[in-house]
Parts: sequence; C-alpha cells; structure tokens
Amino acid sequence: MEGDLGKKPIRFIKGVGPQRAKLFSRLKINTVNDLLNHYPRKYIDRSKLKTIDQLSPNNLETIFAFISDVVELKPKKNIRITKVLLRDKTGLVSAVWFNQPYLQRQFKKGLPIFVSGKVERRFGELQFINPEFELFSGEDSLNINRIVPVYPSTEGLSQKVIRNVIASCLSEYLNKVDEIIPQKIIKQMRLMDKRTALKEIHFPSSEESLIMARNRLVFEELFLLQLIFVLQRKKQNLPSQGVCLKNDGQLVKDFLQLLPFELTGAQKKVWAEIKKDLEDRSAMQRLVQGDVGSGKTILAALALLHTVESGYQGALMAPTEILSEQHYNELKVYFEKLGVRVGLLTGSLSKKEKEMVLAKIANAQLDVVIGTHALIQEEVQFARLGLVITDEQHRFGVRQRTAFAEKGINPNILVMTATPIPRTLALTLYGDLDLSIVDELPPGRQKVQTYWLPSSEKARVFSFCESEMKKGRQIYFVCPLVEESDKLEAEAATKLVDDLRQNVFPHRKIGLLHGKMKTEEKDLAMRSFKNGETDILVATTVIEVGVNIPNATVMVIEDAERFGLAQLHQLRGRVGRGNHQSYCILISDVTSPEGQARLRTMCKTFDGFRLAEEDLKIRGFGELLGTRQHGLPDLKLTNLFSDGQILEAARRAAFALFDADPNLNKEEHKALKEKLSNYLRSTEVYTTA
Ligand code: ADP
Ligand code: MG
Repeated sequence: MEGDLGKKPIRFIKGVGPQRAKLFSRLKINTVNDLLNHYPRKYIDRSKLKTIDQLSPNNLETIFAFISDVVELKPKKNIRITKVLLRDKTGLVSAVWFNQPYLQRQFKKGLPIFVSGKVERRFGELQFINPEFELFSGEDSLNINRIVPVYPSTEGLSQKVIRNVIASCLSEYLNKVDEIIPQKIIKQMRLMDKRTALKEIHFPSSEESLIMARNRLVFEELFLLQLIFVLQRKKQNLPSQGVCLKNDGQLVKDFLQLLPFELTGAQKKVWAEIKKDLEDRSAMQRLVQGDVGSGKTILAALALLHTVESGYQGALMAPTEILSEQHYNELKVYFEKLGVRVGLLTGSLSKKEKEMVLAKIANAQLDVVIGTHALIQEEVQFARLGLVITDEQHRFGVRQRTAFAEKGINPNILVMTATPIPRTLALTLYGDLDLSIVDELPPGRQKVQTYWLPSSEKARVFSFCESEMKKGRQIYFVCPLVEESDKLEAEAATKLVDDLRQNVFPHRKIGLLHGKMKTEEKDLAMRSFKNGETDILVATTVIEVGVNIPNATVMVIEDAERFGLAQLHQLRGRVGRGNHQSYCILISDVTSPEGQARLRTMCKTFDGFRLAEEDLKIRGFGELLGTRQHGLPDLKLTNLFSDGQILEAARRAAFALFDADPNLNKEEHKALKEKLSNYLRSTEVYTTA
C-alpha cells in the first residue's frame, strides 16, 4: 500500500541507522516513499566502458582502470595540479584535477577506479580534465557495468551509500508499491508498470527502458494533477447545463463597424473560440492569454455584447479601480452608441450611487457592469447573469473567481491574463480551464527601445526625461522591488519622489503611487497623471497591470535586476501604447554575469512569452507553480518545457476517465480515488498562481 510506504520511516531499511537517517532527512527523505521518489539527477553510462586505447579527444568517456602513479604539480604560484596516471591492459592515460589538493589522499597506487569526463589532447598526451571519479571496491553490481544513477546528495552521504540504500529499499518494498493508474490507460498509452518504472528510474537496464520509466512517472505526475483539475472543474460546473447563448450576431457586427481598426488574426481566432463556447450548452470556462497590448479588452467587449444580445447580463471584473474605470470609460463610448446600458461598480462610489447601480443590476436595467471586487460582494444580485469576465486573472485568487461565477446560475466564465507563460505551464496552472492565446500584436506597434545604464549615468537619464517632457510626454519612475514588504517599497517611493522634487525636477509636477495609499489617494494620483496634470508618476509595482496611458513614453526602472523578466516586461508594457516612440530605461549596477545577461536579454527581446521562458529557466518552476504550498501533488520529474506531449496525453486521459466514471466509483479506480482523496477535500487546493 502506497499509503503505508508514505508513513514507514527509512530506518527500517537495511543500511540505515539513526546517523544516516539524520543525513537523509536533510534531503527531506524520511519515509520509504520519499526514498523511492528520490530520483537521480543524472546518470553515468558505465555500461559502455571504453578501454584506454579506444579513447578519443573531445569526447565524454568512461573507463575502468587502475591507478599507476600520483603526482602533485605546482606549475605556477596559484595553481596546483593533481595528476593521476591510469592503466588498463590496453595502455596508459592521465587524469588531472586543478586546485583540489585534498583529492590526492584518496588516490593510492594499484586501486581500481572509474573515471568519467571529457578527454582532451594536451601536451601531446590524452588527459581526462577534472573528471568525475569513483574508487571501486570489491564485489559490486550497482556501481559498474551499467547505467549508474547520480543522486542529489548532501555532505556525508556518498553516491555509493545512497545507491546501496535505495537498492535495498527497492528489494524490500518494491512489491508493496501499488499501481494507481487504471489498467486500461496503462494498456492504451503503453505505459510501463509502476514497479518496473521505479526500478528502472533508479537502476536502468538500458537507455530505452530508462526513457520508458521516466515517461511513465512523468505521466503519472501530470495525470494526477490534471485529474484533480477535471474533478474540480466538473464539480463547479455541476448543474451541468450552461446558458446557451445563440443569436444572429447583429450587435457584434455593429460594434465591429464602429471600431477604428480591424481585428487582428489572433483576435479573430480567439473570438471564434469564445463564441463557440458561448453558444454551447455547457458553460464556458476559458482562459485567454495574450501579451501586454495584444488587445484583450476588445475580446471581452465582443463576449459581453454577444451575451447581451441573447438577453443576458454580462460583468467584467478588474483588480484595481484604476483599471475598472479605464475599461468602463473605453467601452462606454461604444456601448452607448449601440444602446447597451453599462454601469460601473467600485468601492469608491457614494452610498447613494451604489444603491442605484445595485438596483439597476437587480432589475436588469443594466446590461453590462464593470467593476472591482465590489462586484462579488453579497449585496450584488444580478437579474440574469450570463457571463462573467475576470481581467488580469493572476491578480485574483481562485476563491474570487469562483465567488464571481456564483453570482449567476452556472454562467459562462472567461478569464484574461497578460502573464505570459508557456502553454504547458498554463495548462498546469490553469488545468481546469480551456486555453486561448492571442499570439499577435496589432499592426504598427513600435518597439519600446530598451536600454540598460549604470546608476552613475542617471544624470543622462534625467536630461533625456526632461527632453521628452518638453515635447509634452510623460514619464514613469518605478522604484526598486522589495520582496514581501509593501512598507519598505512605499518608503523607497516616497524618498525617490522627495529627491526628484527637490533636486532634479523642481519645476515639474510629480505624482506618487504606492500600495500603502488609500484608494482615493491612488485614484487621484492616477487620474492626475492620466489628465496630464502631473508630468512624472513615481510608482511601485502597483502600476504593473493594465494601465493604459498612451501619452507616457518613458519607463525608468530603478535597480532593475531585482525584478523578474516577466515583471520587467509588464512594466515596459505601460509605455509604447500610443503613436509616440517610447523608451524603457533599466538602471542597474548588477555585477553577476547572470544578472547582466538577463538585462541584456531585456534590451533585445520583446516577446513576452520568450521572456517568460527565460525567466523560468533561471528561476525554475517550483516557485511559479507553488504546487506544494497549494497542497497539490509535486512535479518531481516533469520538465514543463520538454514534456508538453506527455502533458497533453495525461490531460486527455484524465478527461476520458472522468467521462467514463465521474465519481471514480468503479473498482478499477479505487486506488486512484484513495490517492486523490487527500487532494480533493477542499476547494482551496485549486488555487492558481
Ligand atoms: P491588453 O491585451 O494588454 O489588455 P488592450 O486591450 O488594452 O491590451 O489594447 C491595447 C491597445 O490596443 C488599446 O488601445 C486598443 O484599443 C488597441 N487595439 C486593440 N485591438 C486592436 C487592433 N486589432 N488594431 C489596432 N489596435 C488595437
Ligand atoms: Mg488589458
């Protein structure tokens, strides 16, 4: 039973005493299950050992040989070389290690040794340069003549010890591991069975079977995650008939006539996907993802109009008042011409105004309502809600998304986000939603010229800003990100404003915007900037999402190295929204090569999806997925960049399984149900990023 293995402490395993158990617990390995799931980080192929006469330069090679001589060289003051001469029955080769004098003690003449690494021709002879090695002792079937696993380790635990412990663990407990993927799927997908997969992932019998084993285990990780999503999705969708919104599309046609531009190809494609969902019997649950400025608001407008024409109400929720008002003002112009009644609901309405809007929502005197999370408060009662749209979804929790949907009877749900993440990651994060991607920007967009300057050149930056302001343009200054502290961030912003007001731009009007300000203060700051009453807006990352002020052309970001690439891209997206050439200036004195590389990437990459990928390569998925903290199963082996196909297969299998047995009541799904029961207790676990 898997559950039992998840509780069984590793000290029951041969070769693990209290001392070793302690070392293992440093690797977060406490139970038999933890150990079985402690997958190798790589493998060394010792199944194809070369003899010394077969070695060739510039290749990665592995040999088994005997130490024939050890010397220590000091060619220069700061260089120490440990050189070992190796011999087998075909010849001699040397191995050298630089500046690791402690190695020397281990190398004794006559000892058998494995050496793996790059071979180069130097000084007229072949040499292994800084190779990995392992001294070989006596009887051994784990460490030679096979593909050998290399594990994540900690000081005091050698590879050999870990291999031995895992091998005894496998021999004692493998036959107690249960299959949880239903046999039908295993057959269909030609998956390796679980026990074989576990054995092969640790001690592969061949390269092919290692691949099969890995595929199988990755499939299981993704299948479980997707199944949780499906179950949740269907639960949310229970009275399983959505509103069926069919009409001849006149309102939408009229709206498109009014627009001063044509839809982009990507907008047309995504609109077709949305429309199909709206016309369907089951409720839409769709995520629209599109880079900053790709024109998602128009898609929201189309969906709203389609809903209104079918006689239902639609609602659009945005994370800030600033953004809600912006959407309201933009859409009102069109909607009023079309005879569509639109209202705004935010926290800063007066009591009287609010009561009036609420009454109109309840009496169906409003067709469309735009607002903040004020929309999900209890007193809001819709007459006939057919569609809810969440803009900048990543700023809301799933709780809020769900509460929004509960304002109607199984309404259509559309969520939009500009957080550009790869498709595989999107499916993993938002596995309960269908996905549309707006993968094209409207024509004629100018690239935001992006520069990286050290802080010593700030004077130049300031004079450039001044020249732009002389042309009538406006400037954003974003202050350094302070992780986990709004307060410190606010202080930094306040300090920067004071400095700019007193010492740099005393003749300019400068506004301030940070997360610690009251809603009205924020609104005022935003409105003054929008109306051109202030020339400069100093802000924290609160301006990151959605804000659309086309007259702003310069985005200056202080200590830019502290931001993630995706975040820098969002900030950069605040400029370049009008006809004027725009600029993003990254100020940073970062010295680390990676930090510098990131900023250089920002200067030459404008595709948000590519930037997000770069970001993920640097920061890893764990953090972004946050699966563990949300109580979802961990992805230990899955690589979301390369395992896209397995993900899609796992997703299809999860949907099919659900259709066949929605409550997992069949005997063959018992193990699966038990496994999932841990995750399905609450709705909290379905939280997204
Ligand atoms: P985002 O996807 O970031 O929410 P918006 O919806 O705010 O982008 O659109 C950004 C700008 O692009 C808006 O000013 C909008 O009017 C404009 N826009 C949207 N679609 C098109 C189009 N097909 N052609 C030209 N401009 C467009
Ligand atoms: Mg938007």
